[in-house]
Amino acid sequence: MAFLELDVLNNAPKPVIGIDLGTTNSLAAVWVDGRPTVVRPDGMGAIVPSAFYFEKDGQVLVGHEARRRAMMDPGRALFSVKRFMGRGLADVAGDLASVPFEAREGEGGVVRFLVDGKELAPEQLSSFILRRVVEQASLVLGVRPDRAVITVPAYFDDTQRQATRDAARLAGLEVLRILNEPTAASLAYGLDRRKQGKVAVYDLGGGTFDVSILDIEDGVFRVLSTSGDTHLGGDDLDRALVQVALDELAPRLGDAASEPALLQALRLSAERCKIELSRAPQAEMHLVAPELDLDWRRTFSRAELEAAIAPLLERTLDACQRALADASLTVADVDEVVLVGGSTRVPAVRALVERFFGRTAHAELDPDEVVALGAAVQAHILAGGTREFLLLDVTPLSLGLETMGGAVAKVIHRNSPVPSQATEGFTTYADNQTGLVLNIVQGERELAADCRSLGRFELKGIPPMPAGMARIAVRFQLDADGILNVTAKEETSGVAASITVQPMHALGDEEVERMLADSYANAQADFDNRRIADLKVEMGTMLRATKAHLDGVRADLDRESLLDLEEACAAAQATIAAERPTAAETQKVRDTLERATLPLAALLMDRVAKEALSGKRVSDL
Ligand code: AMP
Repeated sequence: MAFLELDVLNNAPKPVIGIDLGTTNSLAAVWVDGRPTVVRPDGMGAIVPSAFYFEKDGQVLVGHEARRRAMMDPGRALFSVKRFMGRGLADVAGDLASVPFEAREGEGGVVRFLVDGKELAPEQLSSFILRRVVEQASLVLGVRPDRAVITVPAYFDDTQRQATRDAARLAGLEVLRILNEPTAASLAYGLDRRKQGKVAVYDLGGGTFDVSILDIEDGVFRVLSTSGDTHLGGDDLDRALVQVALDELAPRLGDAASEPALLQALRLSAERCKIELSRAPQAEMHLVAPELDLDWRRTFSRAELEAAIAPLLERTLDACQRALADASLTVADVDEVVLVGGSTRVPAVRALVERFFGRTAHAELDPDEVVALGAAVQAHILAGGTREFLLLDVTPLSLGLETMGGAVAKVIHRNSPVPSQATEGFTTYADNQTGLVLNIVQGERELAADCRSLGRFELKGIPPMPAGMARIAVRFQLDADGILNVTAKEETSGVAASITVQPMHALGDEEVERMLADSYANAQADFDNRRIADLKVEMGTMLRATKAHLDGVRADLDRESLLDLEEACAAAQATIAAERPTAAETQKVRDTLERATLPLAALLMDRVAKEALSGKRVSDL
């Protein structure tokens, strides 16, 4: 009765893209010719700035264009929308200070911006960025990708991850996996090839700093701890240089020192100087202000930059120390160090990190692209591709359904790769049964009562038909984030119902271990209980069939057979009702019942044969 089909997403017709949806910049990469490649349309940069500008006519500009317009008119621009994804007003009070629009809480207590009387959700805005990224990818690939792996910071909670998924859905993308940024960076460097090890990922971007400690076990990554500062990045390094400049310029600037336009010009000059200092020992800052009769030039050495930013860099090391402590590790335990984010190009940053961890850091790939590249590696693997190694998460416990009699039909087995999907066929138990309650369970035990119930739902509206005629396909789809969607569909009528549950929710490693240990300890008892449950169901079916047919032929059945049958039926009924019959007893009662029904079956067959001979077809009966 059961048909089982297990297929991992295979041979995708369209490429699956990896997207780094960043706080300041976003970009995509895709697997081409055996390696991940950043999507870079001819004549365009790979990067889509995560910036918005709202035209008065309601048009929303995104990316470079938005950033350009924002320079002239910051009052209608919005940046760093990622900080607001899935957050409430209280969570982001500090960040809202720099937002020129009113913010309020919408459905689910998450932030909405009010732009010209229209409410805009951060996930909606992020979807515009994703659309732009996908458009760019379409230009390069010649086909619009509709599936993606999207990265998020390791510390993102469920709501923030869900908001990211919603943004993708709004952009017409199916998310194959939400991947942690540090995991993506490690994948880009192929660290999943290690059997085991600890990785420190140091990510200093434009406006944020994150450090994550990861554990690799057989190619599977686990985040042990994260730390950082959501308001520390390259912008602060620029500000440190601006401060040096202002200290020197103050006497000549007077009140003009606080003018936004002048500060903005200084900041841009400082950033250029800082970037230049990453490759040259000296660089110049330059400020021209004709109205102040000012044409200022100042040469900075690397040593000067380093002195200015030293306190900031020291703060990143404090965070590294905290992350290690939270993971109960010391620097000596760290096997690999990965650098991510544009600011790790500053030689002093790299030197400091390498000194702290006492080892050379991975910096071979572009630190702005490494997360997108890793997302593309993951996307390629999820699309069914391989490189000489494979990263696949597996489901630690089986997922199944409670069947009639309280047994469990496992649909997705323990250690199946995720994402995974499987379909199992069921039917109705009683004549004219129009509904079915489906109990979804997780665990290795044979009886549903000993497993963990994840949720129940009802399939209603099955057309009345004899028992066993309905064809109910129950499909389990476990996505890569461990979210399980179960759909039940009665094939002849098309009625369907579904439920979404989160199997791993709140289930720690220890609990998984305990559930597995329980299943081993109870293996024999479970086997027996399962057999008893199945035998009871079988006897139930036999009893119903007997009842349905006996009355019509009772008079023709010899008395002894009739008495045997009635006795066997009574015994079966008593065993079904019994709390704890043994497996052997139950088997005996079932076998006796089967034997006792044989004369009835023979009689019925005989009838059918006679009817057939008298001109009726068997199918008419
Ligand atoms: P991200 O958010 O990862 O794109 O990082 C952007 C930050 O990296 C900005 O603050 C840039 O000024 C900084 N950045 C980019 N290139 C360099 C470079 N060559 N040297 C120093 N900082 C850089």
